[in-house]
Amino acid sequence: MSGTLTLVPTPIGNLSDISPRCRQALEEADFIAAEDTRVTLKLLNHLGIKKPLVSYYEHNKEASGKKIVERILAGENCAQVSDAGTPAISDPGEDLVRLCAESGVPVVAVPGPCAAITALSVSGLPTGRFTFEGFLSTTKKNRAAHLQSLQKEQRTMIFYEAPHKLAATLKDLENAFGEARRIALCRELTKLHEEVLRMTLGEAVAYYAETAPRGEYVLIVEGAPEEKEEGVSLETALEKIAALTERGVSKKDAVKQVAQETGLPKNALYDAAIK
Ligand code: SAM
Repeated sequence: MSGTLTLVPTPIGNLSDISPRCRQALEEADFIAAEDTRVTLKLLNHLGIKKPLVSYYEHNKEASGKKIVERILAGENCAQVSDAGTPAISDPGEDLVRLCAESGVPVVAVPGPCAAITALSVSGLPTGRFTFEGFLSTTKKNRAAHLQSLQKEQRTMIFYEAPHKLAATLKDLENAFGEARRIALCRELTKLHEEVLRMTLGEAVAYYAETAPRGEYVLIVEGAPEEKEEGVSLETALEKIAALTERGVSKKDAVKQVAQETGLPKNALYDAAIK
C-alpha cells in the first residue's frame, strides 16, 4: 500500500511556531524531503528528532521527485519541508505535489506559518480579496509584463522580496501603480526586529532611498480603485435605479450602488429618484 506525502510548514523566524502536529508529522515520517538538508538538520536537532533526509530543491527536483514518489508508492511516508514557511508556496513542493497527485499518492498538508498570510493579516489593507504574486521576475521583460498584467488589479496584492532588491522593486511598483497607492512593508515577521511600515508607494521609495533595507520582506500593496463608468447621464442612472428597485432592492441601496458604479453624487441621485 502507498504511503503519504505530508507537507510540513516550518517557522519563518520563531522556533516556537512549530506546532505539535508538525512535530508529530516529522517524527512519524520514514524520511524527510528537505530544500536544504543543513537548514532542516538544525531544526531537527532543535526538536530532538533523528530522520533520514533527502534533498529536494529547484535544481534536482525532477530526478529527486521521481525517487521520492517511488519510495512513497513502495509504502514509505515522506514529510516535505522547505527552509521556512509553507512548502509549495514560492518554495519547492508544487511539482512534487503534482507528481504525487498524478501517481495516485495521497498528499496531506499540515497548516502552519506562511509569510504571505502573516503579512496580509497585519497589513491593515483589505483582506477580503487578495492575490499572491510571489517574487517579481529579475528579467526586465517578464517583470514589466507581470506588472502590466496587474494594472487594473483591484484585489490586495502580496509580493515577496529580498532586501537587496527592495529599492528597485519599490520604484517599479510606484511606476506601475502610482505614488499614492498604499503599501504595508512587513519585515522580519515573528523575529526580534519585526516591523510593519504602512505608507504610500511614493513615501516608501523616498524612505528606502535613505534607509538600508534589512531582513526579509513581504510587500502588501493596495489594489486599484474601482473603475467608474465614464460619462453616465442622470437619465441612465435613474433607469439603473428603477431596474434595481423593480428587483426588490430598496431605493436607498439602489442609489448607493448606482452612485458607486457611476461616480454620480449620491444625494443628487437620491433627490432625482424620489421626484
Ligand atoms: N514558503 C515560504 C512561506 O510560506 O512564506 C516562502 C519562501 S520564499 C523562498 C522566502 C520569502 O518569504 C522571503 O524572501 C520573504 O519575502 C518572505 N519571508 C519569509 N520569512 C519572512 C519573515 N520572517 N518576514 C518577512 N518575510 C518573510
